[in-house]
Amino acid sequence: MQAQDAKRRVALLTGVTGQDGAYLAEYLLGLGYTVHGIKRRSSSFNTARVDHLYQDPHVGNVPFLMHYGDMTDSTNLIRLMQQIRPTEIYNLAAQSHVGVSFESPEYTANADALGVLRLLEAIRILGMEKETRFYQASTSELYGLVQEIPQKETTPFYPRSPYGVAKLYGYWITVNYREAYGMFACNGILFNHESPIRGETFVTRKITRGVARIEVGLEDTLYLGNLEAKRDWGHAKDYVEGMHAILQADTPDDFVLATGETRSVRELVELAFGEVGRRIEWHGSAVEEIGVDAKSGRTVVRIDPTYFRPTEVDILIGNASKARQKLGWKPKRSFSQLVKEMVASDLAIARREEVDGKDAV
Ligand code: NDP
Ligand code: GDP
Repeated sequence: MQAQDAKRRVALLTGVTGQDGAYLAEYLLGLGYTVHGIKRRSSSFNTARVDHLYQDPHVGNVPFLMHYGDMTDSTNLIRLMQQIRPTEIYNLAAQSHVGVSFESPEYTANADALGVLRLLEAIRILGMEKETRFYQASTSELYGLVQEIPQKETTPFYPRSPYGVAKLYGYWITVNYREAYGMFACNGILFNHESPIRGETFVTRKITRGVARIEVGLEDTLYLGNLEAKRDWGHAKDYVEGMHAILQADTPDDFVLATGETRSVRELVELAFGEVGRRIEWHGSAVEEIGVDAKSGRTVVRIDPTYFRPTEVDILIGNASKARQKLGWKPKRSFSQLVKEMVASDLAIARREEVDGKDAV
């Protein structure tokens, strides 16, 4: 790295319009980075999560810029990298939904597996191996079928979905380019992390949004799949700090980021309804099971088998002691704080929608 480049702190984020991209962009801007984000062309606006960071580039030098791009388009990725010459790349873009990956396996492989290769090759083609550090958004879905609990960096992988299999390629190609070409390329093996801006079809947000809409009277019932699955759920704000820490280490390596606690979907449902003062009683079993609000006697949760996955990941619980020891990283926010924050945020949104709906009548 040249002396003048040593001072440059220019990050390129793929997936900047997603949950993690938005929080990471905000965090890096706070640290003084210039942040470039890649967004997909869409027929409607898809930048709601980062609109508050945007400044009109016409007014002069601004630290946050967005560019059109796509993980399936090598030429576009190479050209952007050539223009921006980032000192750090965070590859967060992905078809990130496990359930959807069973419906769109080929696209998932293209974006989530080959997309990683395209970025790594762009670094190599442009001769940026020594100037650019690379972060790959790997996932606890790599562990899949239980081999060891809690899961850590040395636990064998056994992915259980097209998403998990695509991410397995992304993991290993990152390791391979590190070993083959001496790149500072790292995997963060992140366990589930959530927030008020989590996508609405992931189970945490689906539940907190459903609870809020039932409370406000916009909906009657929350339809869910497997209530027994267990996940290690943390707060996305803590996890993006971990991503940055991984790229600041002295040597490139792979790290698990997790809370070390696990809860079932059922427990999450009970906790979220508890936030609005409702106690859930369960009746029946399997697909006939219902969740009833103890006070009103109303059925508020039903099972919809379409949400069951052909192959499920039963339990995830991570051991992040390597990240704690080598990076000093540990999560700051608790699961109950996370659920409280998400329900409060979704209640505010539902109340606004309720008022808007009345205004429209
Ligand atoms: P999101 O689904 O919120 O964001 C995904 C981002 O990728 C969005 O900006 C999306 O754009 C973009 N994207 C999708 N496909 C393409 C494509 N073909 N080209 C360019 N951009 C694309 O995910 P998260 O922020 O939650 O996750 C970030 C990363 O971390 C993902 O790779 C995910 O798989 C991984 N991960 C997430 C975990 C979690 O619990 N959140 C756990 C472990 C790993 P658009 O907004 O237009 O859809
Ligand atoms: P994942 O861990 O990346 O698959 O994150 P999700 O939030 O999509 O799913 C977490 C767990 O919740 C999985 O085991 C799902 O099978 C389970 N689950 C149960 N009902 C639902 C549902 O309605 N939607 C989603 N997305 N997941 C559900």
